[in-house]
Amino acid sequence: MGYKELADLIFPDAKEISYYEEKYPERNLKEGAIVTRFAPSPTGFMHIGGLYQSLVAKKMAKQTDGIFFVRIEDTDQKREVENGVNEILDSLEYYDLSPDETLGKDCKDIGEYGPYIQSKRKEIYQAYAKNLIEKGLAYPCFCSQDTLNEIRENQEKSKQRTGYYGTWTRCRNMPVDMAIEKIKNGEPYIIRLKSCGNPDKKIKHKDVIKGGIEFPENDQDVVIIKSDGLPTYHFAHIVDDHLMKTNLVIRSDEWVSSVPLHLQLFYMLGFKAPKYAHIAPIMKEENGNKRKISKRKDKEAAVSYYKQAGIPRAAVIEYLMNIANSNFEAWRKGNKDKSIDEFKFEINKMGVSGALFDMTKLLDVSKTVISKYSADEVLNSVLTWANEYDKDLYELLSKDKEYSLKIFGIERGNAKPRKDIAKWSDTKESIIYMFDDKFLNSNIEYDYQKVNDKEEIDNIINKYFEKYFDINDDKQMWFDKMKDLAEELEYAREVKEYKANPDMYKGHIGDISTVIRVKLTGKSNTPDLYEIMQVLGKESIIKRASL
Ligand code: GLU
Repeated sequence: MGYKELADLIFPDAKEISYYEEKYPERNLKEGAIVTRFAPSPTGFMHIGGLYQSLVAKKMAKQTDGIFFVRIEDTDQKREVENGVNEILDSLEYYDLSPDETLGKDCKDIGEYGPYIQSKRKEIYQAYAKNLIEKGLAYPCFCSQDTLNEIRENQEKSKQRTGYYGTWTRCRNMPVDMAIEKIKNGEPYIIRLKSCGNPDKKIKHKDVIKGGIEFPENDQDVVIIKSDGLPTYHFAHIVDDHLMKTNLVIRSDEWVSSVPLHLQLFYMLGFKAPKYAHIAPIMKEENGNKRKISKRKDKEAAVSYYKQAGIPRAAVIEYLMNIANSNFEAWRKGNKDKSIDEFKFEINKMGVSGALFDMTKLLDVSKTVISKYSADEVLNSVLTWANEYDKDLYELLSKDKEYSLKIFGIERGNAKPRKDIAKWSDTKESIIYMFDDKFLNSNIEYDYQKVNDKEEIDNIINKYFEKYFDINDDKQMWFDKMKDLAEELEYAREVKEYKANPDMYKGHIGDISTVIRVKLTGKSNTPDLYEIMQVLGKESIIKRASL
Protein backbone atom coordinates (compact mmCIF):
# COMPACT_ATOMS: atom_id res chain seq x y z
CA MET A 1 0.00 0.00 0.00
CA GLY A 2 1.21 3.49 -0.73
CA TYR A 3 0.86 7.12 0.29
CA LYS A 4 -2.36 7.50 -1.69
CA GLU A 5 -4.12 4.85 0.42
CA LEU A 6 -2.78 6.39 3.59
CA ALA A 7 -4.01 9.84 2.54
CA ASP A 8 -7.44 8.48 1.59
CA LEU A 9 -7.74 6.69 4.89
CA ILE A 10 -6.91 9.82 6.87
CA PHE A 11 -8.96 12.31 4.85
CA PRO A 12 -11.57 10.29 2.92
CA ASP A 13 -13.75 13.28 2.13
CA ALA A 14 -11.14 15.89 1.26
CA LYS A 15 -11.42 17.47 -2.17
CA GLU A 16 -8.63 17.68 -4.74
CA ILE A 17 -6.60 20.84 -4.24
CA SER A 18 -7.31 21.80 -7.85
CA TYR A 19 -10.85 22.56 -6.71
CA TYR A 20 -9.61 25.32 -4.41
CA GLU A 21 -6.98 26.54 -6.82
CA GLU A 22 -9.77 27.18 -9.33
CA LYS A 23 -12.21 28.55 -6.80
CA TYR A 24 -9.77 31.28 -5.75
CA PRO A 25 -8.28 32.75 -8.91
CA GLU A 26 -5.62 35.45 -9.04
CA ARG A 27 -7.00 38.82 -8.04
CA ASN A 28 -7.56 41.29 -10.77
CA LEU A 29 -5.45 44.15 -9.47
CA LYS A 30 -3.04 46.56 -11.03
CA GLU A 31 0.69 45.88 -11.04
CA GLY A 32 2.25 46.58 -7.64
CA ALA A 33 -1.03 46.41 -5.71
CA ILE A 34 -0.42 45.11 -2.20
CA VAL A 35 -2.71 42.43 -0.82
CA THR A 36 -2.21 42.20 2.91
CA ARG A 37 -4.03 41.32 6.05
CA PHE A 38 -4.45 41.50 9.79
CA ALA A 39 -4.86 38.03 11.24
CA PRO A 40 -5.83 38.21 14.89
CA SER A 41 -6.98 35.49 17.21
CA PRO A 42 -10.42 36.27 18.63
CA THR A 43 -9.22 36.73 22.19
CA GLY A 44 -11.61 39.58 22.92
CA PHE A 45 -8.72 41.95 23.40
CA MET A 46 -7.53 44.43 20.82
CA HIS A 47 -3.91 45.25 21.54
CA ILE A 48 -2.46 48.59 20.51
CA GLY A 49 0.11 46.58 18.53
CA GLY A 50 -2.75 45.09 16.51
CA LEU A 51 -4.09 48.50 15.71
CA TYR A 52 -0.62 49.63 14.71
CA GLN A 53 -0.23 46.63 12.44
CA SER A 54 -3.65 47.23 10.87
CA LEU A 55 -2.83 50.87 10.27
CA VAL A 56 0.33 49.91 8.44
CA ALA A 57 -1.42 47.18 6.48
CA LYS A 58 -4.40 49.29 5.46
CA LYS A 59 -2.14 52.17 4.48
CA MET A 60 -0.02 49.90 2.27
CA ALA A 61 -3.09 48.47 0.58
CA LYS A 62 -4.75 51.84 0.08
CA GLN A 63 -1.61 53.46 -1.29
CA THR A 64 -1.25 50.80 -3.96
CA ASP A 65 -4.93 50.27 -4.80
CA GLY A 66 -4.61 46.86 -3.19
CA ILE A 67 -6.65 44.92 -0.64
CA PHE A 68 -6.57 44.86 3.12
CA PHE A 69 -8.44 41.96 4.65
CA VAL A 70 -8.98 40.55 8.11
CA ARG A 71 -8.74 36.84 8.74
CA ILE A 72 -9.73 35.50 12.12
CA GLU A 73 -7.26 32.89 13.31
CA ASP A 74 -9.23 30.75 15.72
CA THR A 75 -7.53 27.40 15.39
CA ASP A 76 -6.37 27.61 18.98
CA GLN A 77 -9.83 27.29 20.44
CA LYS A 78 -8.58 27.61 24.00
CA ARG A 79 -7.77 31.28 23.39
CA GLU A 80 -11.16 32.10 21.96
CA VAL A 81 -13.62 34.38 23.68
CA GLU A 82 -17.27 34.98 22.94
CA ASN A 83 -17.68 38.19 20.98
CA GLY A 84 -13.92 38.32 20.47
CA VAL A 85 -14.40 38.87 16.75
CA ASN A 86 -16.76 41.81 17.16
CA GLU A 87 -14.42 43.53 19.56
CA ILE A 88 -11.74 43.46 16.88
CA LEU A 89 -14.02 44.54 14.05
CA ASP A 90 -15.52 47.32 16.16
CA SER A 91 -12.11 48.67 17.05
CA LEU A 92 -11.03 48.70 13.42
CA GLU A 93 -14.22 50.42 12.40
CA TYR A 94 -13.87 53.00 15.17
CA TYR A 95 -10.40 53.88 13.92
CA ASP A 96 -11.52 54.00 10.31
CA LEU A 97 -9.44 50.94 9.48
CA SER A 98 -12.22 48.67 8.32
CA PRO A 99 -10.93 46.00 5.98
CA ASP A 100 -12.06 45.52 2.38
CA GLU A 101 -12.75 41.88 3.09
CA THR A 102 -13.51 40.15 6.36
CA LEU A 103 -15.82 37.97 8.33
CA GLY A 104 -18.71 40.35 8.99
CA LYS A 105 -20.22 41.01 12.38
CA ASP A 106 -23.20 38.92 11.36
CA CYS A 107 -20.77 36.04 10.67
CA LYS A 108 -21.30 36.35 6.91
CA ASP A 109 -18.26 36.80 4.72
CA ILE A 110 -17.62 40.08 2.97
CA GLY A 111 -15.38 39.23 0.00
CA GLU A 112 -14.78 36.42 -2.47
CA TYR A 113 -11.79 34.78 -0.84
CA GLY A 114 -13.41 33.51 2.34
CA PRO A 115 -14.29 31.97 4.65
CA TYR A 116 -12.40 34.62 6.58
CA ILE A 117 -12.32 32.59 9.77
CA GLN A 118 -10.07 29.59 10.02
CA SER A 119 -12.43 27.27 11.86
CA LYS A 120 -14.64 27.31 8.75
CA ARG A 121 -11.71 26.35 6.51
CA LYS A 122 -11.03 22.96 8.06
CA GLU A 123 -11.77 21.04 4.88
CA ILE A 124 -9.46 23.29 2.88
CA TYR A 125 -6.50 22.62 5.18
CA GLN A 126 -7.27 18.94 5.11
CA ALA A 127 -7.23 18.91 1.32
CA TYR A 128 -3.75 20.43 1.27
CA ALA A 129 -2.52 18.19 4.11
CA LYS A 130 -3.86 15.20 2.18
CA ASN A 131 -2.01 16.35 -0.89
CA LEU A 132 1.25 16.47 1.09
CA ILE A 133 0.64 12.97 2.47
CA GLU A 134 -0.02 11.66 -1.04
CA LYS A 135 3.33 13.04 -2.11
CA GLY A 136 5.09 11.55 0.89
CA LEU A 137 5.77 15.04 2.28
CA ALA A 138 3.70 14.66 5.46
CA TYR A 139 2.90 11.72 7.68
CA PRO A 140 0.83 10.62 10.66
CA CYS A 141 2.70 10.64 13.95
CA PHE A 142 1.52 8.40 16.80
CA CYS A 143 3.97 9.54 19.46
CA SER A 144 2.36 10.13 22.82
CA GLN A 145 3.24 13.06 25.07
CA ASP A 146 5.36 10.64 27.14
CA THR A 147 7.33 9.61 24.08
CA LEU A 148 7.90 13.23 23.12
CA ASN A 149 9.08 14.00 26.66
CA GLU A 150 11.44 11.06 26.53
CA ILE A 151 12.90 12.26 23.23
CA ARG A 152 13.41 15.72 24.70
CA GLU A 153 15.08 14.42 27.82
CA ASN A 154 17.50 12.34 25.76
CA GLN A 155 18.27 15.36 23.59
CA GLU A 156 18.95 17.48 26.65
CA LYS A 157 21.16 14.80 28.17
CA SER A 158 23.25 14.55 25.03
CA LYS A 159 23.24 18.34 24.58
CA GLN A 160 21.47 18.19 21.24
CA ARG A 161 18.88 20.57 19.84
CA THR A 162 15.43 19.67 21.11
CA GLY A 163 12.51 18.91 18.85
CA TYR A 164 11.14 16.31 16.49
CA TYR A 165 13.64 16.08 13.67
CA GLY A 166 16.00 13.81 11.71
CA THR A 167 17.05 10.63 13.47
CA TRP A 168 15.17 11.58 16.64
CA THR A 169 11.82 11.08 14.97
CA ARG A 170 9.95 7.81 15.54
CA CYS A 171 7.22 7.95 12.92
CA ARG A 172 8.86 9.74 9.99
CA ASN A 173 10.09 6.55 8.43
CA MET A 174 7.33 4.25 9.60
CA PRO A 175 6.26 1.88 6.82
CA VAL A 176 2.97 3.00 5.30
CA ASP A 177 1.33 -0.37 6.03
CA MET A 178 2.13 -0.02 9.68
CA ALA A 179 0.72 3.49 9.84
CA ILE A 180 -2.46 2.31 8.10
CA GLU A 181 -2.85 -0.53 10.57
CA LYS A 182 -2.42 1.77 13.55
CA ILE A 183 -5.03 4.17 12.20
CA LYS A 184 -7.42 1.30 11.57
CA ASN A 185 -6.84 0.18 15.16
CA GLY A 186 -7.98 3.58 16.33
CA GLU A 187 -4.62 4.84 17.61
CA PRO A 188 -4.59 8.62 18.01
CA TYR A 189 -2.29 10.62 15.75
CA ILE A 190 -1.46 14.01 14.37
CA ILE A 191 -0.02 14.99 11.00
CA ARG A 192 3.55 16.19 10.71
CA LEU A 193 5.51 17.72 7.87
CA LYS A 194 8.31 15.56 6.53
CA SER A 195 10.80 18.39 6.54
CA CYS A 196 13.22 18.51 3.63
CA GLY A 197 15.57 20.97 5.34
CA ASN A 198 19.20 20.62 6.25
CA PRO A 199 20.25 22.83 9.17
CA ASP A 200 23.84 22.86 7.95
CA LYS A 201 22.62 24.87 5.00
CA LYS A 202 21.55 28.48 5.23
CA ILE A 203 18.58 30.18 3.67
CA LYS A 204 18.77 33.83 2.82
CA HIS A 205 15.68 35.93 3.25
CA LYS A 206 15.04 39.59 2.59
CA ASP A 207 12.55 40.98 5.03
CA VAL A 208 10.86 44.18 3.86
CA ILE A 209 11.63 45.91 7.18
CA LYS A 210 14.55 44.03 8.65
CA GLY A 211 16.49 43.60 5.41
CA GLY A 212 18.65 40.55 4.65
CA ILE A 213 18.57 37.78 7.24
CA GLU A 214 20.24 34.38 7.14
CA PHE A 215 18.91 31.37 8.97
CA PRO A 216 19.74 27.66 9.06
CA GLU A 217 17.15 25.66 7.13
CA ASN A 218 14.33 24.14 9.13
CA ASP A 219 14.55 20.43 9.77
CA GLN A 220 11.81 20.09 12.40
CA ASP A 221 8.94 17.85 11.41
CA VAL A 222 6.41 20.32 12.74
CA VAL A 223 2.80 19.45 13.39
CA ILE A 224 0.56 20.67 10.59
CA ILE A 225 -2.75 19.12 11.63
CA LYS A 226 -3.53 18.66 15.32
CA SER A 227 -5.48 15.83 16.92
CA ASP A 228 -8.69 17.90 16.74
CA GLY A 229 -8.34 17.96 12.95
CA LEU A 230 -7.53 21.68 12.94
CA PRO A 231 -4.30 23.02 11.51
CA THR A 232 -1.49 24.73 13.41
CA TYR A 233 -0.86 28.42 12.75
CA HIS A 234 2.16 27.57 10.62
CA PHE A 235 0.24 25.43 8.20
CA ALA A 236 -2.99 27.40 8.19
CA HIS A 237 -1.47 30.74 7.36
CA ILE A 238 0.48 29.26 4.47
CA VAL A 239 -2.63 27.77 2.90
CA ASP A 240 -4.69 30.89 3.62
CA ASP A 241 -2.22 33.46 2.41
CA HIS A 242 -1.73 31.41 -0.73
CA LEU A 243 -5.44 31.08 -1.49
CA MET A 244 -6.27 34.64 -0.44
CA LYS A 245 -3.44 35.89 -2.67
CA THR A 246 -1.59 37.78 0.04
CA ASN A 247 1.58 39.17 -1.45
CA LEU A 248 2.86 40.97 1.65
CA VAL A 249 2.56 39.44 5.10
CA ILE A 250 2.79 42.17 7.71
CA ARG A 251 3.03 40.66 11.17
CA SER A 252 4.75 41.04 14.49
CA ASP A 253 8.41 40.14 14.67
CA GLU A 254 7.89 37.37 17.18
CA TRP A 255 7.35 35.29 14.02
CA VAL A 256 10.63 36.11 12.34
CA SER A 257 12.36 32.98 13.61
CA SER A 258 9.63 30.89 11.97
CA VAL A 259 10.46 32.26 8.52
CA PRO A 260 12.64 29.27 7.51
CA LEU A 261 9.79 26.92 8.34
CA HIS A 262 7.25 29.06 6.54
CA LEU A 263 9.34 29.41 3.40
CA GLN A 264 9.88 25.67 3.45
CA LEU A 265 6.14 25.06 3.73
CA PHE A 266 5.46 27.35 0.76
CA TYR A 267 8.12 25.50 -1.18
CA MET A 268 6.89 22.02 -0.29
CA LEU A 269 3.31 22.94 -1.14
CA GLY A 270 4.48 24.31 -4.48
CA PHE A 271 3.29 27.88 -3.74
CA LYS A 272 4.98 31.17 -4.42
CA ALA A 273 5.91 32.75 -1.07
CA PRO A 274 4.74 36.28 -0.30
CA LYS A 275 7.06 38.96 0.99
CA TYR A 276 7.30 39.33 4.74
CA ALA A 277 7.46 42.52 6.77
CA HIS A 278 8.11 41.87 10.44
CA ILE A 279 7.10 44.78 12.62
CA ALA A 280 9.02 45.48 15.81
CA PRO A 281 6.77 45.65 18.87
CA ILE A 282 5.75 48.82 20.62
CA MET A 283 7.88 49.19 23.72
CA LYS A 284 7.59 50.90 27.03
CA GLU A 285 10.31 52.31 29.20
CA GLU A 286 10.30 51.21 32.81
CA ASN A 287 13.07 52.06 35.26
CA GLY A 288 15.40 52.81 32.39
CA ASN A 289 14.72 49.50 30.66
CA LYS A 290 12.77 48.89 27.49
CA ARG A 291 10.19 46.12 27.44
CA LYS A 292 7.27 45.14 25.23
CA ILE A 293 4.07 46.93 26.11
CA SER A 294 2.11 44.32 27.98
CA LYS A 295 -1.53 43.38 28.09
CA ARG A 296 -1.19 42.41 31.74
CA LYS A 297 0.79 45.36 33.05
CA ASP A 298 -0.09 48.38 30.92
CA LYS A 299 -3.51 49.96 30.57
CA GLU A 300 -2.40 51.60 27.33
CA ALA A 301 -1.89 48.17 25.76
CA ALA A 302 -5.67 47.93 25.27
CA VAL A 303 -7.10 49.86 22.36
CA SER A 304 -10.25 50.37 24.44
CA TYR A 305 -8.26 52.52 26.89
CA TYR A 306 -7.92 55.40 24.41
CA LYS A 307 -11.62 55.56 23.78
CA GLN A 308 -12.36 55.47 27.48
CA ALA A 309 -9.86 58.22 28.23
CA GLY A 310 -11.39 60.24 25.41
CA ILE A 311 -8.30 60.57 23.25
CA PRO A 312 -9.67 61.29 19.78
CA ARG A 313 -9.14 58.56 17.24
CA ALA A 314 -7.33 60.91 14.88
CA ALA A 315 -4.76 61.61 17.61
CA VAL A 316 -4.13 57.92 18.20
CA ILE A 317 -3.71 57.32 14.49
CA GLU A 318 -1.44 60.33 14.02
CA TYR A 319 0.68 59.17 16.91
CA LEU A 320 0.96 55.61 15.60
CA MET A 321 1.96 56.98 12.21
CA ASN A 322 4.66 58.96 14.02
CA ILE A 323 6.01 55.75 15.45
CA ALA A 324 5.72 53.93 12.14
CA ASN A 325 7.59 56.45 10.00
CA SER A 326 9.81 58.93 11.80
CA ASN A 327 9.60 61.38 8.89
CA PHE A 328 5.85 61.75 9.45
CA GLU A 329 6.38 64.42 12.09
CA ALA A 330 8.31 66.65 9.70
CA TRP A 331 5.70 66.04 6.99
CA ARG A 332 2.94 67.01 9.39
CA LYS A 333 4.73 70.25 10.33
CA GLY A 334 4.87 71.23 6.69
CA ASN A 335 1.36 70.02 5.90
CA LYS A 336 -0.69 71.03 8.89
CA ASP A 337 -4.11 70.79 7.32
CA LYS A 338 -3.64 67.83 4.98
CA SER A 339 -5.34 64.52 5.53
CA ILE A 340 -3.08 61.77 6.80
CA ASP A 341 -4.05 59.87 3.64
CA GLU A 342 -1.81 62.18 1.68
CA PHE A 343 1.28 61.13 3.60
CA LYS A 344 3.34 58.67 1.59
CA PHE A 345 4.06 55.87 3.97
CA GLU A 346 7.19 53.80 3.41
CA ILE A 347 7.11 50.44 5.10
CA ASN A 348 10.80 49.77 4.55
CA LYS A 349 11.61 52.84 6.66
CA MET A 350 9.98 51.36 9.74
CA GLY A 351 12.34 50.93 12.67
CA VAL A 352 14.00 47.57 13.12
CA SER A 353 14.01 47.81 16.90
CA GLY A 354 10.89 48.45 18.95
CA ALA A 355 9.57 52.00 19.04
CA LEU A 356 9.02 53.51 22.44
CA PHE A 357 5.47 54.38 23.38
CA ASP A 358 5.42 57.84 24.88
CA MET A 359 2.14 58.89 26.47
CA THR A 360 3.25 62.51 26.88
CA LYS A 361 3.96 62.69 23.19
CA LEU A 362 0.62 61.11 22.33
CA LEU A 363 -1.16 63.67 24.49
CA ASP A 364 0.79 66.44 22.80
CA VAL A 365 -0.29 65.17 19.41
CA SER A 366 -3.80 65.00 20.77
CA LYS A 367 -3.71 68.62 21.97
CA THR A 368 -2.74 69.73 18.49
CA VAL A 369 -5.42 67.59 16.88
CA ILE A 370 -8.08 68.98 19.22
CA SER A 371 -6.86 72.55 18.76
CA LYS A 372 -7.91 72.29 15.13
CA TYR A 373 -11.48 71.28 15.99
CA SER A 374 -14.25 73.84 15.79
CA ALA A 375 -16.25 74.53 18.97
CA ASP A 376 -19.04 72.48 17.45
CA GLU A 377 -16.78 69.49 16.87
CA VAL A 378 -15.40 69.72 20.39
CA LEU A 379 -18.85 69.90 21.92
CA ASN A 380 -20.12 66.96 19.88
CA SER A 381 -17.08 64.85 20.68
CA VAL A 382 -17.25 65.62 24.39
CA LEU A 383 -20.98 64.87 24.41
CA THR A 384 -20.48 61.52 22.68
CA TRP A 385 -17.72 60.63 25.10
CA ALA A 386 -19.55 61.87 28.19
CA ASN A 387 -22.73 60.06 27.23
CA GLU A 388 -20.84 56.84 27.69
CA TYR A 389 -18.35 57.67 30.43
CA ASP A 390 -19.50 60.71 32.44
CA LYS A 391 -23.25 61.19 32.66
CA ASP A 392 -22.89 64.20 34.95
CA LEU A 393 -20.81 66.04 32.38
CA TYR A 394 -23.21 64.97 29.65
CA GLU A 395 -26.15 66.52 31.47
CA LEU A 396 -24.22 69.63 32.32
CA LEU A 397 -23.30 70.25 28.70
CA SER A 398 -26.60 69.32 27.16
CA LYS A 399 -28.72 71.51 29.44
CA ASP A 400 -27.89 74.62 27.46
CA LYS A 401 -26.00 73.62 24.36
CA GLU A 402 -25.65 77.15 23.13
CA TYR A 403 -23.86 78.13 26.29
CA SER A 404 -21.65 75.02 26.13
CA LEU A 405 -20.76 75.90 22.58
CA LYS A 406 -19.66 79.35 23.69
CA ILE A 407 -17.41 77.84 26.33
CA PHE A 408 -15.67 75.66 23.78
CA GLY A 409 -15.46 78.63 21.44
CA ILE A 410 -13.15 80.50 23.84
CA GLU A 411 -9.81 81.00 22.12
CA ARG A 412 -10.75 78.68 19.32
CA GLY A 413 -10.97 79.16 15.58
CA ASN A 414 -8.26 81.84 15.62
CA ALA A 415 -4.66 81.69 14.36
CA LYS A 416 -3.34 80.43 17.68
CA PRO A 417 -6.10 78.24 19.08
CA ARG A 418 -6.01 77.01 22.66
CA LYS A 419 -4.12 73.80 23.19
CA ASP A 420 -5.09 72.82 26.67
CA ILE A 421 -7.36 69.84 26.01
CA ALA A 422 -5.57 66.54 25.44
CA LYS A 423 -8.46 64.19 26.08
CA TRP A 424 -12.18 64.49 26.64
CA SER A 425 -11.83 63.19 30.17
CA ASP A 426 -9.90 66.42 30.96
CA THR A 427 -12.66 68.73 29.81
CA LYS A 428 -14.77 68.61 32.93
CA GLU A 429 -11.94 69.85 35.09
CA SER A 430 -11.10 72.61 32.63
CA ILE A 431 -14.61 74.03 32.14
CA ILE A 432 -16.58 73.23 35.27
CA TYR A 433 -16.05 76.73 36.70
CA MET A 434 -18.02 78.14 33.81
CA PHE A 435 -21.23 76.75 35.30
CA ASP A 436 -22.75 78.82 38.10
CA ASP A 437 -24.51 75.84 39.65
CA LYS A 438 -21.26 74.05 40.09
CA PHE A 439 -19.01 77.00 40.78
CA LEU A 440 -21.08 78.95 43.25
CA ASN A 441 -21.81 75.85 45.29
CA SER A 442 -18.29 74.52 45.42
CA ASN A 443 -15.61 74.93 48.03
CA ILE A 444 -13.49 77.39 46.17
CA GLU A 445 -9.95 77.74 47.30
CA TYR A 446 -8.87 81.11 46.03
CA ASP A 447 -5.17 81.32 45.43
CA TYR A 448 -4.38 84.88 44.41
CA GLN A 449 -0.72 84.14 43.87
CA LYS A 450 1.34 87.27 44.52
CA VAL A 451 -1.25 89.46 46.21
CA ASN A 452 -1.96 87.91 49.60
CA ASP A 453 -3.37 90.66 51.69
CA LYS A 454 -7.14 90.26 52.14
CA GLU A 455 -7.80 93.97 52.30
CA GLU A 456 -5.77 94.60 49.17
CA ILE A 457 -7.62 91.85 47.34
CA ASP A 458 -10.99 93.29 48.34
CA ASN A 459 -9.77 96.69 47.37
CA ILE A 460 -8.79 95.55 43.85
CA ILE A 461 -12.06 93.74 43.32
CA ASN A 462 -14.27 96.47 44.71
CA LYS A 463 -12.56 99.19 42.71
CA TYR A 464 -12.82 97.19 39.54
CA PHE A 465 -16.50 96.58 39.87
CA GLU A 466 -17.38 100.05 41.14
CA LYS A 467 -15.49 101.97 38.57
CA TYR A 468 -14.27 99.99 35.59
CA PHE A 469 -16.35 96.92 34.82
CA ASP A 470 -18.69 97.19 31.86
CA ILE A 471 -19.73 93.99 30.08
CA ASN A 472 -20.20 95.90 26.84
CA ASP A 473 -16.57 96.96 26.53
CA ASP A 474 -14.61 95.61 23.64
CA LYS A 475 -11.36 93.82 24.34
CA GLN A 476 -9.15 96.89 23.93
CA MET A 477 -11.30 98.99 26.22
CA TRP A 478 -11.44 96.19 28.75
CA PHE A 479 -7.69 95.91 28.75
CA ASP A 480 -7.11 99.66 28.96
CA LYS A 481 -9.41 99.81 31.96
CA MET A 482 -7.50 97.02 33.62
CA LYS A 483 -4.39 99.12 33.21
CA ASP A 484 -6.12 102.21 34.57
CA LEU A 485 -7.14 100.21 37.61
CA ALA A 486 -3.53 99.08 38.05
CA GLU A 487 -2.30 102.62 37.88
CA GLU A 488 -4.90 103.89 40.30
CA LEU A 489 -3.83 101.27 42.84
CA GLU A 490 -0.13 101.95 42.35
CA TYR A 491 0.64 98.92 40.21
CA ALA A 492 2.64 99.26 36.98
CA ARG A 493 0.56 99.44 33.77
CA GLU A 494 3.13 97.28 32.01
CA VAL A 495 5.22 94.40 33.28
CA LYS A 496 8.35 95.93 31.80
CA GLU A 497 7.81 99.20 33.64
CA TYR A 498 7.63 97.24 36.82
CA LYS A 499 10.76 95.31 36.03
CA ALA A 500 12.69 98.50 35.36
CA ASN A 501 11.67 100.05 38.71
CA PRO A 502 10.26 97.41 41.02
CA ASP A 503 10.49 99.66 44.10
CA MET A 504 8.15 102.20 42.63
CA TYR A 505 5.16 99.84 42.45
CA LYS A 506 3.17 97.40 44.54
CA GLY A 507 3.21 95.04 41.59
CA HIS A 508 2.11 95.09 37.97
CA ILE A 509 -0.91 94.70 35.71
CA GLY A 510 -0.49 90.90 35.71
CA ASP A 511 -1.01 90.76 39.48
CA ILE A 512 -4.17 92.82 39.19
CA SER A 513 -5.68 90.70 36.45
CA THR A 514 -4.74 87.53 38.33
CA VAL A 515 -6.77 88.69 41.31
CA ILE A 516 -9.81 89.26 39.12
CA ARG A 517 -9.27 86.00 37.26
CA VAL A 518 -9.01 83.99 40.48
CA LYS A 519 -12.05 85.72 41.96
CA LEU A 520 -14.16 84.94 38.89
CA THR A 521 -12.96 81.43 38.06
CA GLY A 522 -11.20 80.05 41.13
CA LYS A 523 -8.15 79.48 38.92
CA SER A 524 -4.99 81.43 38.33
CA ASN A 525 -4.49 79.84 34.96
CA THR A 526 -7.32 79.96 32.42
CA PRO A 527 -7.81 80.84 28.78
CA ASP A 528 -8.37 84.48 27.88
CA LEU A 529 -10.12 86.27 30.76
CA TYR A 530 -11.91 88.76 28.55
CA GLU A 531 -13.48 85.96 26.52
CA ILE A 532 -14.38 84.07 29.67
CA MET A 533 -16.17 87.13 31.05
CA GLN A 534 -18.04 87.61 27.81
CA VAL A 535 -19.31 84.05 27.98
CA LEU A 536 -20.17 84.19 31.69
CA GLY A 537 -22.21 87.37 31.25
CA LYS A 538 -22.86 90.20 33.66
CA GLU A 539 -25.15 88.44 36.06
CA SER A 540 -22.85 85.55 36.70
CA ILE A 541 -19.84 87.84 37.03
CA ILE A 542 -21.53 89.98 39.66
CA LYS A 543 -22.58 86.91 41.61
CA ARG A 544 -19.04 85.62 41.56
CA ALA A 545 -17.56 88.96 42.50
CA SER A 546 -19.77 89.25 45.54
CA LEU A 547 -18.99 85.79 46.97
N1 GLU B 1 -2.74 34.80 14.47
C1 GLU B 1 -1.36 35.22 14.46
C2 GLU B 1 -1.12 36.09 15.65
O1 GLU B 1 -2.08 36.58 16.24
C3 GLU B 1 -1.14 35.99 13.18
C4 GLU B 1 0.23 36.15 12.72
C5 GLU B 1 0.17 36.58 11.26
O2 GLU B 1 -0.21 37.73 11.02
O3 GLU B 1 0.46 35.77 10.38
O4 GLU B 1 0.00 36.31 16.04
